[in-house]
Amino acid sequence: MFTPQPVTHYKCGNPTCNRRHFYVTPEEAENCCVCSTCGGIIDHAYQSSQCSKCRAIASAAREKSMLDNAQLVPYEGQVLHNTSEDFLYTEDDLYDYINDNFNSLDEIPEYMYVATKVSGISLDAYSTVEYAVEDRHYENAMDDIVCIDSLQRCLDIWCERQDLVSYHPDTHEKISVRDWITDNNITFDFEEVSKC
Ligand SMILES: [Zn+2]
Ligand SMILES: [Zn+2]
Repeated sequence: MFTPQPVTHYKCGNPTCNRRHFYVTPEEAENCCVCSTCGGIIDHAYQSSQCSKCRAIASAAREKSMLDNAQLVPYEGQVLHNTSEDFLYTEDDLYDYINDNFNSLDEIPEYMYVATKVSGISLDAYSTVEYAVEDRHYENAMDDIVCIDSLQRCLDIWCERQDLVSYHPDTHEKISVRDWITDNNITFDFEEVSKC
């Protein structure tokens, strides 16, 4: 005969735990807020299995490996960025960025990423017409549409006149900031740091 077993749910003992889980075994509950890397306690564990210190270390390692893997290319005026926010469009921007944000040559970043340039737009005649036709006409109405090719030629000409250029963060290529400084004998107006 089937005897129902009492089901016990165990809760994490960490008072700052944000997880609302109940665990089936006491071991699982004990490990709820234990960092999977260092074994320390995770404060305010959301979805992470690591403590904030280990997350920061892992994130720095990912960033380093991304930078190490980026291909070094010569700096020829490409748009640069160091984060997803800061785009440096000109060589003057690069100069100002370093001048305004650092106090000595030892502090400046060794490399900067090259942003990806995206220009122009394209429009597909078939899908444009399909969008206009669907929900408004009968099924297979697209079969009765004529002269898609001539519309495509018109769209291509129109798109060519649109002068849009955008830049996106990318981590595939980098330039050497140090080489740029050395090759061009660039000097900065770093604020004098008191040596007293
Ligand atoms: Zn917990
Ligand atoms: Zn940890």
